[in-house]
Amino acid sequence: QSTLKSTTKDLYLDWKAGEPVPYAALCTTFSKIEMTSKRLEISAHCSLFLRQVLRLTPADLLPTILLMINKLAADYSGIELGIGESLIMKAVSESTGRSLKHIKDDQNEIGDLGLVAAQSRSKQPTMFKPKPLTVQGVHKGLLAIAKVEGQGGQGRKVDGIKKLLSAADAHSAGKAVDITKDKGGPSEAKFIVRTLEGKLRLGLAEKTVLVALAQAMMFHEMSQKGNKIPSTADLAKAESTLKSVYSELPSYEVIIPKMLEHGILNLPDNCRLQPGVPLKPMLAKPTKSITEVLDRFEGKDFTCEYKYDGERAQIHFVAHDADEDLATIAPLAGKSDRGVSNIFSRNSEDLSKKYPDILAKLPTWVKEGTKSFVLDCETVAWDMEEKKVLPFQQLMTRKRKDVKVEDVKVKVCVFAFDILYLNGEALVNKSFRERREHLNSAFVPVEGEFAFAKYGNTNELEEIQILLEDSVKSGCEGLMVKMLDGSESFYEPSKRSQNWLKVKKDYLSGVGDSLDLVVLGAYFGKGKRTSWYGAFLLACYNPKTQNYETVCNIGTGFSEAILESFHKQLSDIQIDRPKPFYTHSSGNKDQPDVWFEPKYVWEVKTADLTLSPRYKAAADDVGGGGKGISLRFPRFIKERDDKKPDQASTSRMIAEMYQRQESVSKNKGPSADDDF
Ligand code: ATP
Repeated sequence: QSTLKSTTKDLYLDWKAGEPVPYAALCTTFSKIEMTSKRLEISAHCSLFLRQVLRLTPADLLPTILLMINKLAADYSGIELGIGESLIMKAVSESTGRSLKHIKDDQNEIGDLGLVAAQSRSKQPTMFKPKPLTVQGVHKGLLAIAKVEGQGGQGRKVDGIKKLLSAADAHSAGKAVDITKDKGGPSEAKFIVRTLEGKLRLGLAEKTVLVALAQAMMFHEMSQKGNKIPSTADLAKAESTLKSVYSELPSYEVIIPKMLEHGILNLPDNCRLQPGVPLKPMLAKPTKSITEVLDRFEGKDFTCEYKYDGERAQIHFVAHDADEDLATIAPLAGKSDRGVSNIFSRNSEDLSKKYPDILAKLPTWVKEGTKSFVLDCETVAWDMEEKKVLPFQQLMTRKRKDVKVEDVKVKVCVFAFDILYLNGEALVNKSFRERREHLNSAFVPVEGEFAFAKYGNTNELEEIQILLEDSVKSGCEGLMVKMLDGSESFYEPSKRSQNWLKVKKDYLSGVGDSLDLVVLGAYFGKGKRTSWYGAFLLACYNPKTQNYETVCNIGTGFSEAILESFHKQLSDIQIDRPKPFYTHSSGNKDQPDVWFEPKYVWEVKTADLTLSPRYKAAADDVGGGGKGISLRFPRFIKERDDKKPDQASTSRMIAEMYQRQESVSKNKGPSADDDF
């Protein structure tokens, strides 16, 4: 509060009302954020800057927010940066007139391409002063780079980067940047390069930006009304309003214009869940036994659904004769006589090119009176002859893009388990019992194409046991246990909720859930495997520090064919040295033969967890003496191409698993409210 109350006078001064937001002003804010690790200060810097944007140039609020969260557009647009290091080095070299060798040497020494760019740019004499960069201009420039496709694309991307870099730091070009001081200060070149790499390295979480935006807007609205400052309660109200609107409609493109037009507290009346904007799915917490489920849900009515082993999918549909305005529903790509539709992944990626067969058949299972919906479901590979579900591995053999309906070999059946929107109405704040009734009334099952998830409503241990066994016999992973009534059963977008519990067949022994880990390095194989990698170094993610922390070496569970294909995939992202945000052992024997960019996520099972000086997972939480948690006898299960590296299992999850294991082994039983 006290930091928030300070005036905005001391911020970037050289920017007048109505003028585009100078990129230098944003970089000044980034630099202030970079210099602190205190959460409240980070949030205050963000919020003060946003207040200035709102006061002087509200029209630039959207690109400012997007650059702050390091995205060019909402996730469903599929527009991503994350440009490879070699391309950026080339652009830095060409735009600053330094040889590629010099740039590479500097990068080897400094380990932060942003700083290398800042330093290279500052050493460069400038003949003329280019026009200063603006937030709008940088956003547009980056967007153009991200959208480059086709032949000669690499060259055009390099050209785009060069254009931005040559205009960067127009105000300070020629002045030496001391990268040992201020972490390189507010250099524009530094932040452009880091944005291109997809990692600002500021410790600025997306949630912090959302909260800062809510606060800034509240301050702004109050000052416009002549009231000086909002109360703590006003700020809390603004925060919870924006958070809840964003969870239903995660698109700043839609929310920001409405917020500027109607005010933040009126957002819920103007911005609600809408087909075409995928929301982040609700997730479940793991449990170790049926008795744990009964303990947690004691005295409440709940339902046990089969847990299908396929891919999470959110299907959106709007009929041509629905009340919704189709013009505003942009990303609904699938078109049929009945209406427009799309299917989104767990990460809000557009899957319409992967599942055109589902979209083509959709009209056969949508009832006449069903005019618009958002459906939560699982796509599962289906055996047409035996009429049963097939393992997840079968689904993975389908092509990911540009699938033609006539070429589809692995058929999929959609198993629907929830409905979030129906005929113009959001259902997320209805009980699950009601949502299920809506689901049953809006669709007709079609064998092998569309089915409702099987379930049993029971609180009896033996009956749940039988359901679990039956689900496993019919090829499912176990059960999803969900609360049925009251606000506890509402759909909670993007939340790993206490009100959904998963009981997997293989939880019943071992440490519980499997882990999703990022591949950081590899070791060349021995014997037959010398031309491929035989083992890999894996890491979990620490969202607090934004670092990847090593957790195990793995060499079990891979077929020869998989090793061969991983070798191909990984060779493309090999890097010369570990990234500065890898937390790993410095011991000579512990170094992998090669390092990679953080890109691939693998699901891994383990017998148990132990402390080891060789690995660094959660070392700050549990280790002591530099020891981290590591996996014993890890085994590769599958690639998780639906997860990004920063969605890997977190250090906290692993620390909690470890603590739970320790408390179980001391016979205390797992705690009732483990928060994964
Ligand atoms: P995470 O590791 O983040 O929990 P995950 O993708 O590994 O996620 P699980 O934890 O194994 O998933 O379980 C949740 C997933 O199970 C859902 O995301 C969904 O894809 C799938 N699923 C299958 N059947 C159901 C069901 N009946 N209800 C909800 N989810 C289901």
